[in-house]
Amino acid sequence: SLTFAGMGRRILLAAPRGFCAGVDRAIVTVERALEVYGPPIYVRKEIVHNKHVVRTLADCGVVFVDEVDEVPAGSVVVFSAHGVSPKVKQDARSQGLTAIDATCPLVTKVHQEVIRFARNGYQILLVGHEGHEEVEGTMGEAPDRVQLVDTAEDVGKVTVENPEKVIWLSQTTLSVDETMQRVDGLKERFSALADPPSSDICYATQNRQVAVKLLAPECELVLVVGSRNSSNSVRLVEVALQAGANAAHLIDSVSEIDPSWLDSVATIGLTSGASVPEVLVTEVVGFLAERGWPEPEEVVTAAERQVFALPRNLSQ
Ligand code: SF4
Repeated sequence: SLTFAGMGRRILLAAPRGFCAGVDRAIVTVERALEVYGPPIYVRKEIVHNKHVVRTLADCGVVFVDEVDEVPAGSVVVFSAHGVSPKVKQDARSQGLTAIDATCPLVTKVHQEVIRFARNGYQILLVGHEGHEEVEGTMGEAPDRVQLVDTAEDVGKVTVENPEKVIWLSQTTLSVDETMQRVDGLKERFSALADPPSSDICYATQNRQVAVKLLAPECELVLVVGSRNSSNSVRLVEVALQAGANAAHLIDSVSEIDPSWLDSVATIGLTSGASVPEVLVTEVVGFLAERGWPEPEEVVTAAERQVFALPRNLSQ
């Protein structure tokens, strides 16, 4: 070929990407609990939805369980960043466990909205994904008052007693555009449907979507580093495709890249979900460099300064 290898190729690296403040806090919470109490520390569910993070903590003496009834009495249990229903907290208490709550404060904010609006006589339509841990925890705050709206069909199915007292809230990690489609559908049915006091889709989810949306139209391929069960990571793939990327793939790590994806690609977009350590992105950049790709250019759409204090029983 007459073309110089690498000529004209670009990697556009989304910023912000990777860890959000809630994930960072949850991981530091578990690390600090290991220091303070010593292993084993139990964590209910995956602390954050990332395989690499879970494996690394498991190697340090963290035992991941599905429910608190698997934790021996007297042990320390950490609740994951996605939050828990009041019943889980109650179960931990009645089993004599020391509970440390790593729920992201922005998830807790949605729990408090559920409690407040349910108490004020509202019915709540929660836009979110069926079976996601965050949704289970949030709905558990007022199970009789909350209905889940996941698919477009759900919009037509929800029933409301008093259409003057109904509000929608949402999971924190949804696609902004898809959520508004659901809400528009709901407002066609219930014109008095109230909006949340502030966006329930968190800053980190929104910022990562804005960044990938900006670079996707220039890319033949977008790579999103993230685990399959990571809601915000899966949304980044969808947003990239909707924004005009020819192809977009979710990869847990560099080892999942199929080299044929790179055939006749000139511009690659790269980003990562909110639960993804930066080292996994660096490995992808290294893999591409070995194949003649240049240093990535950052596409910066926001600066993030959010930091959350550790849970009270660990913050000293
Ligand atoms: Fe919190 Fe948003 Fe991060 Fe979830 S994605 S942990 S809600 S900051």
